[in-house]
Amino acid sequence: MTTLTGPPAPASAGERGTYVELRSDTFTLPTPAMLEAAASAPLGDDVYGEDPTVARLERLAAGLLGKDAACLMPSGTMANLAAVLAHCPRGGKAVVGRESDLYVYEAGGASVCGGVVYEPLPNQPDGTILLSDLEEALTVDRADPQFAVPALVALESPQNRCGGVPVGPAYLAEAAGLARRHGAALHLDGARLFNAATALGVTPAELAAPADTVQICLSKGLCAPIGSLLVGEAGAIGRARRIRKLLGGGMRQAGVIAACGILALTEMTGRLAEDHENAARLARGLSGLPGLELDPGPPATNMVFFRVRDPRHTTRSFIDAARERGVRMEELGHGRIRAVTHAGVTTTDIDHTVNVLRALLTPPVPTPGGGR
Ligand SMILES: *Cc1c(COP(=O)(O)O)cnc(C)c1O
Repeated sequence: MTTLTGPPAPASAGERGTYVELRSDTFTLPTPAMLEAAASAPLGDDVYGEDPTVARLERLAAGLLGKDAACLMPSGTMANLAAVLAHCPRGGKAVVGRESDLYVYEAGGASVCGGVVYEPLPNQPDGTILLSDLEEALTVDRADPQFAVPALVALESPQNRCGGVPVGPAYLAEAAGLARRHGAALHLDGARLFNAATALGVTPAELAAPADTVQICLSKGLCAPIGSLLVGEAGAIGRARRIRKLLGGGMRQAGVIAACGILALTEMTGRLAEDHENAARLARGLSGLPGLELDPGPPATNMVFFRVRDPRHTTRSFIDAARERGVRMEELGHGRIRAVTHAGVTTTDIDHTVNVLRALLTPPVPTPGGGR
């Protein structure tokens, strides 16, 4: 058996002599253990349902989230799309957050592929959607043929574009109850569910409990190279499995991916608190800089959002200048810059980042009328 030598364990950017990658936790590389596991995993044809490593990953994920079943998907986008299509008939309505990944970043897939109507509702600063807004969107006369019939509410935790804020189980349970009273299901986009559970101090199963289906990404902070899982009650997962094939997501020896995913779920969730501490450290460093403003404020998970209020910079020029000095970040909605911590970012990288950004804002622009 060949033993692969994987990439070296994450070192600080200084030690690597490269750059600090803060654009996303999707830039994490598979660990050496993952590459070895991929090379030695028992494989089969998963479209025939015969890949034992995929089956093991799916059982593991269902168990961790306290659900009946799971289905491995090539991406979170496909997992969300399969979930919406599994819950909504053609012409049905999916109620979504205006700031949700599902609505903003997934190419309108459920409208294109399933004739589903999205009804986007405002996300509050804490990532939730007001229950009164949900109630209004869900209340239609089902006997009246004029209306699209609501079939799904989709929520996100943590809610990325609201600052990576974790939406908790008590709110999710209320939203689920409301959805069910109106004959609709609840889907939870939990791309970073383990970050949310870590921040809230609850188990992944407690957070997943109110939802009929949950999407989790293996390829974000958990370091797997590819893959997401749709997890939930047996009927919905069965329908999603058929939809996955229709969308071209039926994969053959997918155990190669699943072997990495098993390690993502067993070895990598416990270290996410470290990423949250690094995000908090970054936020503390940035909050002391002139011309830089945290928005919404200190992070709860692994994302720091901020605005630059310095007449020498636009958002773009600031990002470009930081990149030239070895710090990579990106604009993410409403003129804010996002910095995401992950396994490839060390505490030393964080301190280096603060120094680089401080230099871009120095000397401070005098406040008008200050004169001292
Ligand atoms: C990344 C992400 C997705 C989509 O996952 P991909 O694997 O990139 O398609 C969905 N929802 C949220 C909240 C995400 O962050």
